[in-house]
Amino acid sequence: MSARILVVDDIEANVRLLEAKLTAEYYDVLTACDGPTALAIAAAEKPDIILLDIMMPGMDGFQVCRRLKDDPETRHIPVVLVTALDGRGDRIQGLEAGADEFLTKPIDDVMLFARVRSLTRLKLVIDELRQREASGRRMGVIAGAASRLGGSGGRILVVDDNERQSQRVVAELGVEHRPVVETDPEKALVTARGPVDMVIVNASARGFDGLRFCASLRSDEATRHLSILVIVDPDDRPRLVKALEVGVNDLLTRPIDPQELSARCRTQIKRKRYTDFLRQNLDHSLELAVTDQLTGLHNRRYMEGQLSALVKRASMGGDPVAALMIDIDHFKKINDSFGHDVGDEVLREFGIRLASNVRAVDLPCRYGGEEFTVIMPDTRLEDAQRIAERIRLHVAGSPFRVAGGAELLTVTISIGVACTVTDLDTPETLLKRADSAVYEAKHAGRNRVVAKAA
Ligand code: GH3
Ligand code: MG
Ligand code: MG
Repeated sequence: MSARILVVDDIEANVRLLEAKLTAEYYDVLTACDGPTALAIAAAEKPDIILLDIMMPGMDGFQVCRRLKDDPETRHIPVVLVTALDGRGDRIQGLEAGADEFLTKPIDDVMLFARVRSLTRLKLVIDELRQREASGRRMGVIAGAASRLGGSGGRILVVDDNERQSQRVVAELGVEHRPVVETDPEKALVTARGPVDMVIVNASARGFDGLRFCASLRSDEATRHLSILVIVDPDDRPRLVKALEVGVNDLLTRPIDPQELSARCRTQIKRKRYTDFLRQNLDHSLELAVTDQLTGLHNRRYMEGQLSALVKRASMGGDPVAALMIDIDHFKKINDSFGHDVGDEVLREFGIRLASNVRAVDLPCRYGGEEFTVIMPDTRLEDAQRIAERIRLHVAGSPFRVAGGAELLTVTISIGVACTVTDLDTPETLLKRADSAVYEAKHAGRNRVVAKAA
């Protein structure tokens, strides 16, 4: 998994060293020797990860980081701050500035590649969500709303059988979040499926294998998107590396620094909310794109896409496709007599009756206004006509209860039926035939079905 990494350091030798290490592992490397250049490259090149030195003359790493995180165009790029070994204060200040990760100088290769790998993975997920999202909606609105997502009030599950340690964690986090402790991993898995933002796991628990627990969180559909922070001994390097391989989001070494703990939790929760937000927006915009908001039926755009695929298949010797065009009779009168809201209620109720009277493979759609279509794959004209008749009876047969039950309305519909018969039919000719059949039905007195052979 390759990625483009921007390395920023005012000391040329440091830049070259990192560049050599990363290039050897087939990463693409961009470099900058000061803050302003780094910002310009970040904006123009959109790297996947930025490794940022803190101590630089002029604009320091914190300032650069803050600027990157303030800009909706670069906010999603993970930033790794490179700090001095004893830079505890730096780390906290860096997390407040929005940094995603830290590396201490001198840079340890194992930690470097582990961090880069896990951030590349995160970046891939965010990019994919952003990309799919951008096609569904205006990105600016989303970015604006996302920037208001805070990092406090998180629901944090602490999985630890070391009572003293978990109590300290809870005391620290309780000020700003809602932590709960679970000592049994089986029970913790159940809790994690509920409303939880983040899980803190003791990797050196006595009674259970903390990393195995992390792996089960990652493999369960309901919990795989949770943020995981692991508490680990700094000397236990195999476990540290293993934790990153399992795909945990963050590590905290013992002894736990309470300030670093809360800063890391805030970052994780914010990031989790951001990806959740993108994910939800994505689901929502996908749904918006294919359904009619009033009735919940498919919309015209979706219907047209499906119909053209089905007609194409039919024209190449596949199964015939039938289409019903349905128009509610004298619908204008309903609006005029009872108001637009009652009209809407009728449309909704009609949508329910329609959907419950077609097969699962059929596509009931709102074509627009008080007109509906049903697309029926693998259906001949006579069968479609029979189904249309059933729908007509189901609508006219029992009155619609509207206005909170105050009114009972008899509603009738006219239906035109058409079916692909020649390999010359297109979606347009098929719908046009169904439409002219509706016209005939209206003329013949409404509340009826007319089928039109080609
Ligand atoms: P016909 O039997 O010839 O079909 O008569 P009609 O009154 O049903 O047909 P017409 O096309 O004249 O009127 C359709 C009406 O449907 C006009 C429009 O205001 C109304 N309408 C369209 N969309 C909606 C909607 O979403 N909600 C409501 N309440 N009314 C709608
Ligand atoms: Mg009409
Ligand atoms: Mg009508």
